[in-house]
Amino acid sequence: MDGFGPCEICGGDNWRPVYQGPVRDGKFGNLTAPTTVAECDDCGVVRLAEASCHDDDFYAGPEYWASVTGGDGFSNSHEMMDDVGLHGLWADDIGGKTVAEIGTGGGGFLDQIKELEVAPKTVIAIEPADALRPDLEAKGFETFAYTSDAAESFAGAVDLACTFNVIEHVPDPSKFLADAAALLAPDGRLLLSTPNRDDTLMDLAPDYPQFFYRVAHRWYFDADALAACAAQAGLKISRVHYVQRYGLANALVWIRDGKPSAHDSLPGLRDARLDQTWQDNLVRRGVADRLYAVLERVPQ
Ligand SMILES: [Zn+2]
Repeated sequence: MDGFGPCEICGGDNWRPVYQGPVRDGKFGNLTAPTTVAECDDCGVVRLAEASCHDDDFYAGPEYWASVTGGDGFSNSHEMMDDVGLHGLWADDIGGKTVAEIGTGGGGFLDQIKELEVAPKTVIAIEPADALRPDLEAKGFETFAYTSDAAESFAGAVDLACTFNVIEHVPDPSKFLADAAALLAPDGRLLLSTPNRDDTLMDLAPDYPQFFYRVAHRWYFDADALAACAAQAGLKISRVHYVQRYGLANALVWIRDGKPSAHDSLPGLRDARLDQTWQDNLVRRGVADRLYAVLERVPQ
């Protein structure tokens, strides 16, 4: 297909368009020229046309951090901590263990890990943005730009690796996972999150796809596509979990107005019990907005 080479994940060449039109560039309302999002019929991954994606160097420089605004879906460390804590997504006990995060941003998640009552022995921060690493080092984290750099010291030694909302950005997701897998101890686990492309608003709100698809995200996964990618990297998914961040009022405003809801939209429907029921329903059906997976190495 025009503008799509062999699939970086499976090598297949059977792309099928799933969306054509402008996509988001930064915050709501900023749109690109019309482009194409297509699904690989062989492994099931969905990708934005490369010509519309930001290149890799962009993430190491300051422009990216300036372009990321609140609510973009990028790691919010407290949200992540809530998600993994509430849903028991990590090993029961990381006390004395070696923990790594790939794509730490400012390190907010690791700060909280470090504060746990039973703290890990070693905390590894992997972050490509040059401007952020000096602070991470100053906090006492073993700090690296890329996972392959960390492997020189920590291959096979990491009990728990975490990576939140990173895989959708990278040039080659199966290499990204293979690099992460190389860090894991034989019984180590990788905890990953990414936006769920089965997000219910993709079906319910006609204007949502042009917001969901964005230049910063090259790849869009559901659990099956993630499993296919993981298999290429010698990993298997041992657990999938969904989290719905937004409540019912947000969905209704999207459906009615074609935009994210403001704080004062539909005040009568901002109700914790309504939201709980809505969120439980989406989580149960696998159509919540965030996908978590726990991955393990496939024994050789
Ligand atoms: Zn593929």
